Amino acid sequence: MKDLPKVKGELLEDYELASLTRFKTGGVAEVYFSPRDVDDLSNFLKKAPKDMPIHIIGFGSNVLIRDGVLNGIVIRLQNDNFSQIEKIDDTTIRCGAFTSSIAISKFCAENNISGMEFLFGIPGTIGGAILTNAGCFGGEMKDIVVSVDAIDKINGEKKTFSLDECGFSYRKSNISSRWVFTSVVIKGVAGKKEEILKKMDEIKTKKDSVQPTYTKTTGSTFKNPSTEHPAWKLIKEAGCQGMKLGGAVVSPVHANFIVNEDNATSADIEDLAEKVRLMVYEKFGIMLEYEIKIIGSRKLENP
Ligand SMILES: Cc1cc2nc3c(=O)[nH]c(=O)nc-3n(C[C@H](O)[C@H](O)[C@H](O)COP(=O)(O)OP(=O)(O)OC[C@H]3O[C@@H](n4cnc5c(N)ncnc54)[C@H](O)[C@@H]3O)c2cc1C
Repeated sequence: MKDLPKVKGELLEDYELASLTRFKTGGVAEVYFSPRDVDDLSNFLKKAPKDMPIHIIGFGSNVLIRDGVLNGIVIRLQNDNFSQIEKIDDTTIRCGAFTSSIAISKFCAENNISGMEFLFGIPGTIGGAILTNAGCFGGEMKDIVVSVDAIDKINGEKKTFSLDECGFSYRKSNISSRWVFTSVVIKGVAGKKEEILKKMDEIKTKKDSVQPTYTKTTGSTFKNPSTEHPAWKLIKEAGCQGMKLGGAVVSPVHANFIVNEDNATSADIEDLAEKVRLMVYEKFGIMLEYEIKIIGSRKLENP
């Protein structure tokens, strides 16, 4: 093992990442660290070598990890200490950053807290929902976040971000990628369990009918350039829907979803996404911006 600090959690070398992502693709992390708790994480970050990049992943439902060796340290908060939901008052809860957004929506329904129904449509962790201000069907993180606890990747210092400091806008937050989120406080409004469950069910039914929910995909590949020009429409009208590259396909169900249909590599997925961007640009003069986060560096085959 390299010159790494002693930890209480799990610290491993040469860790295969594909199984941790929804695409089921991606290379091998030089180092993988799953801290036991906030102090374990903070101590590790204080002492970790500063020349090793640090990458965070949650449920991997919004990332494309490139093939090959991923230099640096991958941190995943997979521990019960980061998956707890605690009630602060009747409508406010604190959740560990690795808590499933779906589990949070169910907890809120049980506790008659409304406003979190949209989380039922987002198959990631609540920590993973912060950077992109995740949302669907009219709800987004900016409507429910009170504060976010985080640790500085560079020096291990702790900080709490207020809602204002999060700087949420469409699929974006102003918090820099230098922070690891450890817990999130969210607030809803008083509601009735039956009505909340009905709304959650409607969201799920609607999503499942228009999206390839149960495939190897990471949801919307690109942000919508505007409400008049949703990405799926531009992609469809540019003739990209159904297009394949290697084992990857532009979903016939939803044109903004790329699916690993048949043993795709991350390079297949990225090359297909780039082809889509080019075709949309050639047809409409609009360059699509990625919603998914791409991690790692691309090795040139013939440098
Ligand atoms: C079928 C399907 C449907 C989807 N529908 C929607 C939708 O309707 N709306 C929507 O917004 N998204 C949607 N998504 C995308 C995805 O579910 C969300 O973006 C989700 O919030 C990502 O959470 P995650 O834990 O999987 O994050 P990951 O994919 O693991 O990571 C995403 C980003 O967050 C960072 N990150 C993760 N955890 C932390 C942490 N603790 N601290 C700091 N940074 C962190 C990562 O570094 C990465 O940059 C969908 C995905 C799928 C597969």
